[in-house]
Amino acid sequence: MSDTDVVQPDPAEVKPEQVPSEDSAEKAAERRRAVESVLPALREAAGAEHVYTEDHQVRTYESDGLLHYRARPAAVVLPGSAEEVREAVRICFEAGVPWVARGAGSGLSGGALPVAGGVVIGLSRLRRVLEVDLDNGRVVVEPGVTNVEVSAAVGPTHFYPPDPSSQIVCTIGGNFAENSGGAHCFKYGFTTNYVLGAEAILSDGTMVEIGGAASDMPGFDLLGALVGSEGTLAVVTKITLRVIPTPESVRTLAAFFDSVSDAGDAVSAIVTGGVIPAAIEMMDKLAIEAAELATGVGFPTDAGAALIIELDGSESEVEAQFADLESTCERAGATEVRIAETAEQAALFWKARKACFPAMGRISSSYYVQDGVIPRTKLTEVLQRIEDLATEYELRVANVFHAGDGNLHPLVCYSGPDEAEKAEELSGKILETCVEFGGSITGEHGVGVDKKAYMPKMFGEPDLAAFQKLRCAFDPHALANPGKVMPTPRLCGEVPGPYREHPLERAGLAERF
Ligand SMILES: Cc1cc2nc3c(=O)[nH]c(=O)nc-3n(C[C@H](O)[C@H](O)[C@H](O)COP(=O)(O)OP(=O)(O)OC[C@H]3O[C@@H](n4cnc5c(N)ncnc54)[C@H](O)[C@@H]3O)c2cc1C
Repeated sequence: MSDTDVVQPDPAEVKPEQVPSEDSAEKAAERRRAVESVLPALREAAGAEHVYTEDHQVRTYESDGLLHYRARPAAVVLPGSAEEVREAVRICFEAGVPWVARGAGSGLSGGALPVAGGVVIGLSRLRRVLEVDLDNGRVVVEPGVTNVEVSAAVGPTHFYPPDPSSQIVCTIGGNFAENSGGAHCFKYGFTTNYVLGAEAILSDGTMVEIGGAASDMPGFDLLGALVGSEGTLAVVTKITLRVIPTPESVRTLAAFFDSVSDAGDAVSAIVTGGVIPAAIEMMDKLAIEAAELATGVGFPTDAGAALIIELDGSESEVEAQFADLESTCERAGATEVRIAETAEQAALFWKARKACFPAMGRISSSYYVQDGVIPRTKLTEVLQRIEDLATEYELRVANVFHAGDGNLHPLVCYSGPDEAEKAEELSGKILETCVEFGGSITGEHGVGVDKKAYMPKMFGEPDLAAFQKLRCAFDPHALANPGKVMPTPRLCGEVPGPYREHPLERAGLAERF
């Protein structure tokens, strides 16, 4: 392998290990040669100008939003149609070359990290809205359409609820693969609740249609398996989504508290009181400070926590519940409640919340975005544990999260190589805490390459073996985004433990895949 395959970035900025440890320089070099041999075919399939191989071109694709990892692909192909995607996948299949589908590359778990020396299939040119059927609440899009473009295509009468904070750039293909969520998922559900059908290309180039426009298709729920599979089962080229009518009324408030514990009490009181807000988002003191520096929306920087709460529904329902909401916040100890009187004011509250991740750059040169889930009732205890861990590691941790879902996003601040290691360790401890409290190692950012080592903390060997069988059924040659999600590299046909011939194999009635 040439030393340009795996980039050695500034050690102050990244983890010591750049690529999955199971990969080797020899394998990358072998892949690079295989890709070189099929470049003419790839150029014919997608057009020469849409196949990048030059160093300065492919470097753009060597990381996703998680910059800790980098790997240099041999080629990046940007097909212009589903047929061209199929052709690119088929060419890779025949050459035995692994590929990674990529949307906008905003993922935060290294899901779109290339295989060194492999191929990246970028979906950015597949960005047409193919069909809008508002009477039936359906929209059909290509995977490169961004999340906000879906709502724009069906508005103002309808909208598409899952709304990642990255929605102005992230693609529906990426949302599909990550089962992405957002502030409004507490009431409305995640991507999986809105995907009705998909056209997908399997790793041998076969095009399949899964699901359709109807809400409940018979047979096994293969669509459910595909959503959230992080590009490891197939590349999706067309998606049918459900969209819903825009609520008649939306009202938003921002409530400020002395502590996250008071804000947590308010969240519990609101939810147990029977109101289901469209969104309940929490920012702690450090997150408020960073957001304020970045946006200047006027949030009080001496507050210990902020809640941004949105109610939506019919005019009368929202009016009745909004007064209750305000008094519930006050009873829980809110020091100030600000009500957005106009849509512009509400947009400012959301601007502060949605800016939180990038805004951390204002207070720390580097930070690690963590994503874990806990039962909502454990919020106060877990936030205290995170604070204790931050003190122990002498690092600052900001918390900004979807409080209604118990989906935490601790932002672990650090600078320099020594602190990078500490930050990674602290982030791991936070995940372990989430699991210990009955939660999960990811709420919406996926496992990718970053969290695969934590999969055995949530799943036993039989569970992981079941995942592997599913993966083998879709992609027996392990060409679609290999090295992601599963904690250890496995080949299809490999089963945990020593090999034992199954009686059906012995009888010639079954074969191992
Ligand atoms: C500032 C910021 C805020 C964020 N906020 C949120 C948030 O609120 N909620 C949330 O859920 N996420 C959030 N994210 C994470 C990220 O934006 C989402 O995971 C998003 O869905 C990724 O979309 P993408 O197009 O960038 O996908 P990519 O990063 O390009 O890819 C993500 C994964 O999807 C696969 N993939 C992409 N396209 C396809 C396809 N067509 N077929 C099959 N597989 C495919 C890739 O192989 C990869 O595994 C945030 C990220 C940032 C940087």
